[in-house]
Amino acid sequence: MKPSGFTYHRPDGVGGALQVLSEFGPDAKVLAGGQSLVPLLNMRLAAPEHLVDINRLDELSYVRVDGDDEQRVVRVGATARHTDVERDPAASGALPLLGRALRHVAHPTIRNRGTTVGSLVHADPSGEMTAVLALLEGSMQLRAVNSTRTVAAADFFLGPLESCAVAGELATEAVFPVPAGRTGSAWLEVARRHGDYAVCGAGALVTLDDDLRVVSARTAYISVDATPVVLDLTDEAGAVPFDTADWVGAGRAAADRLDPDDDIHATAEYRRHLAGVLTTRALHAAGLDAAAPEAVNRDGVRRLGAASTEVPR
Ligand SMILES: Cc1cc2nc3c(=O)[nH]c(=O)nc-3n(C[C@H](O)[C@H](O)[C@H](O)COP(=O)(O)OP(=O)(O)OC[C@H]3O[C@@H](n4cnc5c(N)ncnc54)[C@H](O)[C@@H]3O)c2cc1C
Repeated sequence: MKPSGFTYHRPDGVGGALQVLSEFGPDAKVLAGGQSLVPLLNMRLAAPEHLVDINRLDELSYVRVDGDDEQRVVRVGATARHTDVERDPAASGALPLLGRALRHVAHPTIRNRGTTVGSLVHADPSGEMTAVLALLEGSMQLRAVNSTRTVAAADFFLGPLESCAVAGELATEAVFPVPAGRTGSAWLEVARRHGDYAVCGAGALVTLDDDLRVVSARTAYISVDATPVVLDLTDEAGAVPFDTADWVGAGRAAADRLDPDDDIHATAEYRRHLAGVLTTRALHAAGLDAAAPEAVNRDGVRRLGAASTEVPR
């Protein structure tokens, strides 16, 4: 199908984009990478009268690491592509979780066009970056002609395909805080084929102290609820050396706490089972990453032959 008619705007700067968005309010939609919006237009599930193409807003194409060792953040501007974030050496050095999750977002051709900020505004409950932002307790910056607001991830996602960005607002930046201390990460998911939306996905962050005891164990999930879910499983894992932590118990606790739905891809029961298994494995991998980063591969999973505890089952 073809989209219904619209007026196409292609402003050269943020100021111009905000003017057009303010002028046409709810009749206008931002066009970023178009990887979600264009299919919606073609299927006529969306029919805005005005499209505001932000691809000339070069001032928003950055991926940057800011701040000092105490409080570093990765800032991603609205026209930076998924690929820009995935391949940025400073960003992946500071926050390997970004690359670990992004490698599961669709396929390289889609990541070359799709933007990370667009994916967050799109708020697909199966979108990897929604859970990454929530797990890291990041935030989004939203600008309108006369206002700028920063919204915490916990308040940003309102429902499936619904973020709190309102008509007239442009999401200009996503901010991903770099966890302090000795923190490891992992991202694991099950999809029917690599690059498909996940049936269930889980990210984990594990922080250890200098004696390699667990200080914090947190997880986040996609495809289990209308918005990304974050769980604190520190108590279930136990404040013990990471290689004796109860990752299996933490996985069981996660499965008990989650409340997935049935859909055409999977039953709720199967999703709950996957969430439990992925939790155990992701926490184990993140713990190992925190203890011995050189022993894990780029997904945060143990390299074959590397000295470590066995993957718990
Ligand atoms: C075949 C296929 C498979 C995919 N698989 C995955 C996957 O596994 N995981 C995943 O996470 N994603 C997946 N995607 C989606 C992809 O990540 C998209 O790029 C992303 O969801 C939207 O980003 P975009 O830049 O393309 O936004 P667009 O499609 O241009 O816009 C999406 C929505 O966000 C709004 N928007 C975009 N940017 C802004 C902004 N700066 N300010 C305000 N509103 C804005 C638009 O108005 C629109 O409503 C897939 C897409 C395809 C086509």
